[in-house]
Amino acid sequence: MIHVTEEKMFAYIEDELPEDDRLLVEGHIDKCSQCFDSYLDAVDRLNTSYELSPSFTDDIIDVIKEHTPKKAGKARGTLFNYAIASSMTLLLMGSGVFQYVFSTFDDQQFQEQPSITEKLLNETDRWRNDDQRGGVWHE
Ligand SMILES: [Zn+2]
Repeated sequence: MIHVTEEKMFAYIEDELPEDDRLLVEGHIDKCSQCFDSYLDAVDRLNTSYELSPSFTDDIIDVIKEHTPKKAGKARGTLFNYAIASSMTLLLMGSGVFQYVFSTFDDQQFQEQPSITEKLLNETDRWRNDDQRGGVWHE
C-alpha cells in the first residue's frame, strides 16, 4: 500500500489538490489508520501554526467526525476506535502544552478563553455518548 506523503497530506488539508488526487487521498485515509493518524497530526500542526482560534477544537472535532464512519463496520471497528482514541490523547496533550506556553506569554488574555482541554473533553464526551446511544462504540 502506498501511503499518503506529507506534502500531499498538507495540500489535501489546505484543499489544494485536484479532484482526482483529493478522492485518492480521501479513500486512502479512510482505509489506512496510519495515514489517518498522520492526517490528524498534520491538521494539528497546521492549526497550531496559525493563531489559536476559538474554533480550534471545533475544527478538530469536525475533522474526526468526518472521518468516522457513521456505522462502524465489524472489520474496522476496534482498530479505528483505537486510532481515534490515541489521536485524541495526543491532541489533548498538545492542547495542554499550548495552554502552558500561552499562559506564560499572556496570562490574562488566555484565561479569558475557555480551557481548550476542557472544551475538547466535553465535546468528546457528548459525541461519544451520542454514538453510544447508536451502538457504534459497542463492538
Ligand atoms: Zn496509509
